[in-house]
Amino acid sequence: MTIKLHDTLKGKKVDFVPLQDGEVTMYLCGPTVYNYAHIGNARPAVVFDLLARVLRRRYTVTFARNFTDVDDKINAASLESGEPISAITEKFSRIYNEDMAALGVLPPDVEPRATQHIGEMVAMIETLVDKGFAYESEGHVLFDVSSYEHYGALSRRSLREMIAGARVEVADYKKNAHDFVLWKPSTPELPGWDSPWGRGRPGWHIECSAMAEKHLGETIDIHAGGQDLVFPHHENEIAQSQCAHDGAPFARYWLHNGFLSIDHEKMSKSLGNVKLVHDLVETVPGEVIRLALLGAHYRQPLDWSQETMESARRMLDRLYGAVRGIEVTGEERAAAEPPDALVAALEDDLNTPRAMAEFFGLARELNKADDEPRKRSLAAQMYASGDLMGLLQSDPDAWFAGQDDSGLSAERIEALIDERTAARADRNFARADEIRNELGEAGVQIEDGPGGTTWRRSS
Ligand code: AMP
Ligand code: ZN
Repeated sequence: MTIKLHDTLKGKKVDFVPLQDGEVTMYLCGPTVYNYAHIGNARPAVVFDLLARVLRRRYTVTFARNFTDVDDKINAASLESGEPISAITEKFSRIYNEDMAALGVLPPDVEPRATQHIGEMVAMIETLVDKGFAYESEGHVLFDVSSYEHYGALSRRSLREMIAGARVEVADYKKNAHDFVLWKPSTPELPGWDSPWGRGRPGWHIECSAMAEKHLGETIDIHAGGQDLVFPHHENEIAQSQCAHDGAPFARYWLHNGFLSIDHEKMSKSLGNVKLVHDLVETVPGEVIRLALLGAHYRQPLDWSQETMESARRMLDRLYGAVRGIEVTGEERAAAEPPDALVAALEDDLNTPRAMAEFFGLARELNKADDEPRKRSLAAQMYASGDLMGLLQSDPDAWFAGQDDSGLSAERIEALIDERTAARADRNFARADEIRNELGEAGVQIEDGPGGTTWRRSS
């Protein structure tokens, strides 16, 4: 079976065949480093980390994820805080990597920084000007969208409709409202580099085209990012790269993750509901956050709530509970393979809900097993599955020991006990038992007495 991926450009799930036999190149648009990453920013990082892990089972993968370290938002942050730009970008790229590592995101093979690729950007812009796809105007260089006939293919918009619907004020240096900036002039206090068009700085889109070319070549296999990047960012990357490379395809597969909302609302500063990874990892194990992010299929919207995390924690408790107390040597673990069905689910456009169902199937089998060799072999398969998905990376005893301060909250325990009492009154004993088990798995013992139900945490 070949790996299947959903390609945004084709609008459907297709067989994945890399350009070069046995090798895969992959580019993910990384963060603009001027503040902390929120939980929505972590979704593409975690999802495409998992994709890289799945691909590495079959191929040699070169995975690049950039840092955008020149941007007007960074300039504004520097002006506001008085900190130098380089101090801001260095601090937030370091914190980004630490926070992502806490979520089990492995370092990509290449982490290019935009400011270290200005020469490549200038060269690409010059090529675009020479070939008639870009023009200089008042110190700016703009990409002429009317010169590229496939503009709009990725986002399924026609340029004619875009022009008809345009309400944007057209800057007078642009020929067409949709022409986008490749290079713009800088004032002396702003970051700038010398160029054939005077001292200036690059536009955002050209950064990714130039870094992808430098590190992965003219045609890359997979280009990934969040759904919001389809237009204009990725549409513009395609236009720049294909025009600079005489029409050679830029990316052979385009993958986009769905958006994350918080309690059914858009995450936004004005609503005050922005959840930073940096804060979450202080109180919740990284694996809980990782599994919560992988709980929904990556192309679907994902709503984040307290319950999302509690449910991920219960799932992990079940997985750790199954392997707890079974000695597996490092050798046994390294020699084991995840079950075929789990791998097949991931190779089917990263179907994480199905993969998790297989993971639990394996845990159930292990719980039922009674002879020692079988237990060890199933536990080794559990660990191999965990290594593939970036889960089960802690020692089970340490996992449960760490639950005291971050386990089910007393509030949540009381709520579950109330629900169980109501279920018993309704003679819904199945639900009542389910709750008792759930509490048990989270290390909470309950006792029914004449005065009601009491609970305590077991050690
Ligand atoms: P930015 O630093 O804003 O360019 O975002 C970095 C990455 O996070 C991009 O791939 C975005 O598409 C992605 N992203 C931003 N907000 C969300 C969200 N709420 N849900 C999912 N992905 C997001
Ligand atoms: Zn990009």
